[in-house]
Amino acid sequence: MNSITIETNTNQYDVHIGEKIRHKLPSFLPKDYQTIMIVTDSSVANLYLEDVKEAFPSEQRVFTSIVPAGEVSKSKDAYFDLITDCIQRQLDRHSLIIALGGGVVGDLAGFVAATYMRGIDYVQVPTTILAHDSSVGGKVAINHPEGKNLIGSFYPPVAVIYDVETLYTLPEQEIRSGYAEVVKHGLISDEAYFESVLSQGGIHKLSNSILTEHLLKGIKVKAEIVEKDEKEHGIRQYLNFGHTLGHALEAELGYGRITHGEAVAVGMLFAMKVSEVVFGNTSPINKLHGWLKKNRYPMEFQDIDTVRLVNRMKIDKKSKNQQIQMVLLKKIGQLEVREVNDELLLKIVKDFFRE
Ligand code: NAD
Ligand code: MG
Repeated sequence: MNSITIETNTNQYDVHIGEKIRHKLPSFLPKDYQTIMIVTDSSVANLYLEDVKEAFPSEQRVFTSIVPAGEVSKSKDAYFDLITDCIQRQLDRHSLIIALGGGVVGDLAGFVAATYMRGIDYVQVPTTILAHDSSVGGKVAINHPEGKNLIGSFYPPVAVIYDVETLYTLPEQEIRSGYAEVVKHGLISDEAYFESVLSQGGIHKLSNSILTEHLLKGIKVKAEIVEKDEKEHGIRQYLNFGHTLGHALEAELGYGRITHGEAVAVGMLFAMKVSEVVFGNTSPINKLHGWLKKNRYPMEFQDIDTVRLVNRMKIDKKSKNQQIQMVLLKKIGQLEVREVNDELLLKIVKDFFRE
């Protein structure tokens, strides 16, 4: 098992990563909690809820709340129902919430913990590859019908307990989704890490040790950035590499048609293209393109309305005065946030989607 300590100006917590550690969950908690509420989704509940429940001694009051699987659960209704559960089960400021699942459960249960009684402790128990990203860094949120993650907070967990064994039940599409963020962590940090990820043949059959190594490195990259810039005033924006087009594409195609990570993968190719135009440099765009193809990332999109896509990019949280700010890659490990004007962007988008 490996542990990484995340230390920001305001708090400190450990990320533990290893095999089968879900069975020993109480040993990773900073104290004994008398009342615990496990929040999970309908798919993860069938797989891992019993393991986590059984890890606690019978004298502790352990409740469970199960939300439907998928992005739909990052809603005000799911949020409000969970708050009602907290009240009815008499959780107080000494209680604990356990977020058992992917980024959806992590964001939702984390936001419940952030706001119930003005904040109670919670732990992240991620079960997706993508959640190596979402469980670290303390951002929690639910969606508004007008946009993703518009209602949220910076509220770090008291610990992250990441059992890599759970990742072996992930569907293929979710492996692709999570690995796009692993690749992103490579691109924004160092070439050796990026190369080591791309040198692995298929991401669908990685050994436990390689997977753990990639996730550990990804978490370290994220931790280092979050430690320096917790509230995203500067370098934390680099973590949004690939997300400007990614978010727009996700919304344009309709959530569920393509996963977040699959959209970010296309977004990273696009951001590299823009970088090449803006800086006149060359990037590992072909290498990444080949790897994405090999791993069956969706790359062909019919009937994309490019004008609407550019308009969607403007709703990005990084936008300033309606101007799109993009995270661009000078070279691996070196990024810059630049304003890119609509006209240039539309031209590159049209070319990118071969309109
Ligand atoms: P998710 O939580 O919806 O999980 C994906 C699917 O996999 C779900 O259907 C889930 O039931 C299933 N699943 C989860 N674990 C499984 C397992 N071990 N075996 C089999 N099936 C399993 O999605 P996600 O990709 O983990 O997270 C996406 C969310 O994360 C988005 O809402 C995004 O906004 C958020 N996010 C947040 C941050 C942050 O910093 N807070 C960062 C990135 C993404
Ligand atoms: Mg992301």
